[in-house]
Amino acid sequence: MERLPAFALKRPASVAEAVALLAAEPGARLLAGGTDLMPNLRRGIEHPSLLVDLGGVRDLGDIGFSAAGLSIGAGVTLARLAADPRLARDWQAISQAAASIAGPGHRSAATLGGNLCLDTRCVFYNQSAWWRAANDHCLKRGGEVCHVAPQGRHCHAAFCGDLAPALLVLGAEIELVARRGARRIALADLYCDDGAAHLSIARGEVLARVALPATSAALVSGYRKARARAATDFPLAGVACALALRDDCVTQLRIALTGTNPRPFLVAGVDELNGRPVDADMLAKLGKLVQKQASPMRTTVTQAHYRRQVASVLAQRLLRELAGAPSSATGGCPEPR
Ligand SMILES: Cc1cc2nc3c(=O)[nH]c(=O)nc-3n(C[C@H](O)[C@H](O)[C@H](O)COP(=O)(O)OP(=O)(O)OC[C@H]3O[C@@H](n4cnc5c(N)ncnc54)[C@H](O)[C@@H]3O)c2cc1C
Ligand code: SF4
Repeated sequence: MERLPAFALKRPASVAEAVALLAAEPGARLLAGGTDLMPNLRRGIEHPSLLVDLGGVRDLGDIGFSAAGLSIGAGVTLARLAADPRLARDWQAISQAAASIAGPGHRSAATLGGNLCLDTRCVFYNQSAWWRAANDHCLKRGGEVCHVAPQGRHCHAAFCGDLAPALLVLGAEIELVARRGARRIALADLYCDDGAAHLSIARGEVLARVALPATSAALVSGYRKARARAATDFPLAGVACALALRDDCVTQLRIALTGTNPRPFLVAGVDELNGRPVDADMLAKLGKLVQKQASPMRTTVTQAHYRRQVASVLAQRLLRELAGAPSSATGGCPEPR
C-alpha cells in the first residue's frame, strides 16, 4: 500500500449539509467508517478531491422500532447492529451477518451504509498501484482487459458485503437523499450485475436509512458464510435465509446470496418450494437453484467451483437448521388453509 493521497476533509452535521457538499464538488466521496474506502485510497484505486465524513451526522445514527417496522440509520455501526438485543431476537439474520464482518476493531468503526455501498472485490483489483500497473491494470479501473475472463467486456468482481443478503431476505427498502429530494427504493434495486458499476446510487446521493416492514419480525432468519480465515474475512460465499412455517411446511421462503456474483441477489424460483416440508427432496431442489444462479469466477484465490458448491451447501444447511428439521425429515403437508 502507498501513502494516502492528498484530499480535503469536511464534516457536515446533517444529511442536508452532506448532500450540499457532494453537489458542490464533483470529485467528492462519502466517508463513513473508512474501513473499505481508506485501503482503496492507499492502493491508489480512488483519488477523491474531498472526503465528506458522515461521522458527525447525528440523524444517521438511530435504530427505530415502531408499528410500521424497523428503521436503521446508515451511520449505525456494525458493532451496534451485532449487539442489539431486539435485532438478535426478531431479525436474527441482521445481527448474525453484522457479527460475521471483519474483526471487532473494524466493526466498531464500520457502518451499515458503508457495508451496503462497499466496492466489489477481485484478486486483480485489490492490489497496490504498482502491482496493478505491472499487470496493465484491468477493465474495472484503467485497463482494457479483464484478467478473469479476457474474451469478454464484463467485470466479474464479486460483491462481498455480508449485510445485503440478510436485509434482502427481510424485504428491505432504502432511502436515498440528494439535493433535489429523497427517494425510496427496494434494496435489491441498489445493485447491478456489473462488477465495475455495481451500484445504482446516483452521484450526489447519500444512503440515509434502511427500512424493514413490521411483518419481517415474524420471519425466522439467519446468515452463514464460508471464508478463508474464520477470525476476519470477506465471504467466499454468504447465504441469508428467511422463512415462515406452518405445520412444519414452509409458507414463505427467501434465500439471498453474496460473495459469488457482482451483486447480492435473491435466489429466483424458491417460491416453488412453498407449501412443502423441509425434507431431502426439497433441500436438493434448493441446492440446484442456488448452484444454477451463483456464478463465481476466478476473482479469489479459492476455486470458483468450490464457492458455488459451498453456497449451495450453506443454503441447504441453513434452511434445515432454521426449520428445525433433521436431514432425514420427510412427511406430507396439509393443504394450505
Ligand atoms: C481486513 C478487512 C476485513 C473485512 N471483512 C469484511 C467482511 O467479512 N465482510 C464485509 O462485508 N466487509 C468486510 N470488510 C469491508 C468493510 O470493513 C465493511 O464492508 C464495512 O462495513 C464498510 O463500512 P464503512 O463504514 O467502513 O465504509 P467506508 O469504507 O467508509 O465506505 C465504503 C463505501 O461506501 C460509501 N458510503 C459509505 N457510507 C455511505 C452512505 N451513507 N451513502 C452512500 N455511500 C456511502 C463510501 O463512499 C465508500 O465508497 C473488511 C475490511 C477489511 C479491511
Ligand atoms: S473481474 Fe476482471 S475487470 Fe473485474 S476487477 Fe477482476 S480482472 Fe478486473
